[in-house]
Amino acid sequence: MFIWIWILTFLANNTSEMTKHHHTKTGFKNNYPIEEHGFSSLLKWQFSSIGKKGKIMPFPVEKPNVDFIKNNKSEPNLVWINHATFLLQYEGANILTDPIFSERCSPVQWAGPKRTTKPGMEISELPKIDFIIISHDHYDHLDVESILAIQEKQKENPPKWFVPLKIKAWFEEIGVTNVEELDWWDKITFGDFEVHCVPAQHFSGRGVTNRNGTLWAGWVIVKNDFRFYFAGDTGYSPDFKEIGERLGPFDLSCIPIGAYNPRWFMGGVHVDPSEAVEIHKDVKSKLTVGMHWGTFPLADEDMDEPPKKLKEALEKRGLSENEFIVLKNGGSIRF
Ligand code: ZN
Ligand code: ZN
Repeated sequence: MFIWIWILTFLANNTSEMTKHHHTKTGFKNNYPIEEHGFSSLLKWQFSSIGKKGKIMPFPVEKPNVDFIKNNKSEPNLVWINHATFLLQYEGANILTDPIFSERCSPVQWAGPKRTTKPGMEISELPKIDFIIISHDHYDHLDVESILAIQEKQKENPPKWFVPLKIKAWFEEIGVTNVEELDWWDKITFGDFEVHCVPAQHFSGRGVTNRNGTLWAGWVIVKNDFRFYFAGDTGYSPDFKEIGERLGPFDLSCIPIGAYNPRWFMGGVHVDPSEAVEIHKDVKSKLTVGMHWGTFPLADEDMDEPPKKLKEALEKRGLSENEFIVLKNGGSIRF
């Protein structure tokens, strides 16, 4: 009898997993197929862009009011720390996205993309963080030094980490156990917050062997009538209309605008500013902050090009510059 119940439960659980469209035998795939670029494409890009790499430059940093941030229990506030790292303060809670404070986003700290611009805040300046969302396992979003330093700073009261499927094991290997793993459209409750994991069009892997073995995602955070969207790394797809319909409209969003050239290589997995504006419209965002530019040289466009292209894209659609903005590292908006 028990063996039958066990077999049926096993089948029920595993068939439901297997029938999810974005699940594969070895990991995950996008909802809408993209051209896959492996190691040979990467080499082709590196060789073809010799002499054509865009300008690499530092940007001014704005020092936020750390005392205000540490004591802020009531004013909704968003600080762009750098790259895809934001500090969101809402009704006394402090939430962090994809924290990276290291010099390089790379498997090693002696090679790989090196930051041109300092983070707007140091880890030591952060208020006590309640929870952290991670979009995927690429080095510029999942940074071991930053994660360990945050854990060490809050060792008496560690934050909760929300990650896409199959990233929990990586955290456990580095000794971080307060981690919750979610699939696309899963929802979890944290205090008064709802945290939703949503689709993105991207890929994953930290080496040559485990491509797409872990899930990539965006996140939606809801408290009462406040709705926040963090897109992670993504190309453009019909996923965003669905996110807008199911969980929008959003009061505040963070959408990537950088690392888009050359288009033949980046197009499927990184939006350009014009597509970022489409996402902003699809998800029905009232106010969007551009991210994923101005910190690390990751692609071929000039590092200062994304805000210029964003301005053009907004103008072309007759949208106001005030609804999709860019900040300096350390810049903040009270919304
Ligand atoms: Zn990525
Ligand atoms: Zn990235």
